[in-house]
Amino acid sequence: MLNVPSQSFPAPSSQQRVSSEGRSKVPLKPGRSLMDWIRMTKSGKDLTGLKGRLIEVTEEELKKHNKKDDCWICIRGCVYNVSPYMEYHPGGEDELMRAAGSDGTDLFDQVHRWVNYESMLKECLIGRMAVKPTVPKDYHEEKKILNGMLPKSQVTDTLAKEGPISPSYDWFQTASLVTIVIYTKQKDLKLDSVIVDHQYDSFRAETIIKDYSYLIHIELSHEIQEDFSVRVIQNVGKIEIALKKKENTSWECLGRPLENHNSFVPKKDAGLYYRKCQLISKEDVTHDTKLFCLMLPPGTHLQVPTGQHVYLKLTITGTEIVKPYTPVSDSLLPEFKEPGFPDNRYIYFLIKIYPAGLFTPELDQLQIGDLVSVSSPEGSFKIPQELEDLFLLAAGTGFTPMVKILNYALINMSSLRKVKLMFFNKTEDDIIWRSQLEKLAFNDKRFDVEFVLSAPTSEWKGKKEHISPGLLSEFLKRSSDKSRVLICICGPTPFTEQGIRILHDLNFSKDEIHSFTA
Ligand code: FAD
Ligand code: NAD
Repeated sequence: MLNVPSQSFPAPSSQQRVSSEGRSKVPLKPGRSLMDWIRMTKSGKDLTGLKGRLIEVTEEELKKHNKKDDCWICIRGCVYNVSPYMEYHPGGEDELMRAAGSDGTDLFDQVHRWVNYESMLKECLIGRMAVKPTVPKDYHEEKKILNGMLPKSQVTDTLAKEGPISPSYDWFQTASLVTIVIYTKQKDLKLDSVIVDHQYDSFRAETIIKDYSYLIHIELSHEIQEDFSVRVIQNVGKIEIALKKKENTSWECLGRPLENHNSFVPKKDAGLYYRKCQLISKEDVTHDTKLFCLMLPPGTHLQVPTGQHVYLKLTITGTEIVKPYTPVSDSLLPEFKEPGFPDNRYIYFLIKIYPAGLFTPELDQLQIGDLVSVSSPEGSFKIPQELEDLFLLAAGTGFTPMVKILNYALINMSSLRKVKLMFFNKTEDDIIWRSQLEKLAFNDKRFDVEFVLSAPTSEWKGKKEHISPGLLSEFLKRSSDKSRVLICICGPTPFTEQGIRILHDLNFSKDEIHSFTA
């Protein structure tokens, strides 16, 4: 059993008191942590009042259940009685009551689309919303889908109302290969915009175009070999996925369309897809932070773009728990990179283990070879092409997004004059990759690092303070009056919020600041 202290949560000084979107998290009563909720759901109590029966809920019925002690909420067509959960909700009862007796899907998606409510609230499930009859929009389209198979050269479009033009796809074959071609009509596409998963009978290729997701999702008509290649032809915005046939026979059709095949929807509506990755290694980096290496399954092509995070999912005492983590490169220095370890098969994470936390102790318990579910990437960070000054303000594990940014900037950005990292930690022992950072600063004259400690020992000769206007105004000196600047900031929420306020006071514009939050 996990050792979760039963004091008020989040603890008074905890970063968890305010969430990234500025929503205040409320202190919860003793015994109302997430772990306590999981225990409650396992207690066998009837949390719906329906003794395990599921019912069909009409809109009229839903509306009636709008009080704290009788509160039903609909999320994606499923109705939950959230009254027993009220006191456990980290955002507080009032926040939950905003959706009382109504469809809370949009509200839920705005705040925490990645939270696995199906698992967390499964004991509160009342049933489904009663479905109103609908008429198919396009009879012919419907008929094709019912027929089940996609004929060669079929190109159907599910057009998004706004945003970029919908991509389309086609396929062709040789004796040994089947090539799926996606026409995106976007010229700036990179290899990390395409995520391919081939597992059992399902073949999925998700292409991210701006804030939209285009999905190909098919049960292939014939078997293929494990390895496939993905190529992006940038100047024409074309993606080619070459599959190797298992047998050299001619395919009459590509396969049978599966859920959401050929759809083009805003990314926030697309749902997160997880694949199981194997734990390959785990090594100590500091007294409480470890470098985890996970291996993608052979049927997956996935590269996490710089500055983006993924969600890791574990089942803890029967409930699926999901937390965000930012992949890093395995080191900051090229000589540490393992030869023959192709980067695109492995994902590395620097993760701090909180002894009283819910997720990280469980992660720490995993044995080499165990499986962890990893989501597709999320995040809004885009590194500008032309920059002269890059300033990174990191606190604790808020260092993680800076790792790939640093690597990318120093290798790819020829316009850069200066990259400066100010790294805030409590003590010297907490500094992640200190010697690598110092070595990098020694080797690359464009890079500087400064460590600032909030609770050092008496031997510490460096800066001893929290983030402050004086500290930042001295640190953030442009290399010239007109230099193009980007400041990235990441750490505990109060740190990030305070930092942003100071940066605005120092007259840095919104476009010059990127803060990393959930
Ligand atoms: P939690 O259960 O959330 O606990 C967190 C803190 O609260 C701990 O100090 C714990 O001791 C305390 N606590 C827990 N329960 C109680 C209680 N009942 N009473 C009092 N105190 C309590 N982290 C990384 O290490 N690496 C990353 O790369 C990384 N990337 C991230 C990316 C994003 C976009 C975001 C938003 C966060 C990221 N994080 C990262 C943080 C990570 O998602 C988790 O929040 C973190 O690992 C803690 O999870 P946990 O479940 O172990 O701890
Ligand atoms: P920590 O508690 O060890 O604190 C590190 C430093 O942050 C401190 O030395 C101090 O300088 C500063 N700090 C802490 N609390 C502060 C406060 N209330 N006000 C001002 N400054 C404060 O940090 P940690 O345990 O490593 O936590 C790292 C945080 O970064 C977590 O909250 C995690 O969720 C967040 N994180 C976010 C992302 C992201 O959003 N992309 C990525 C990684 C980590």
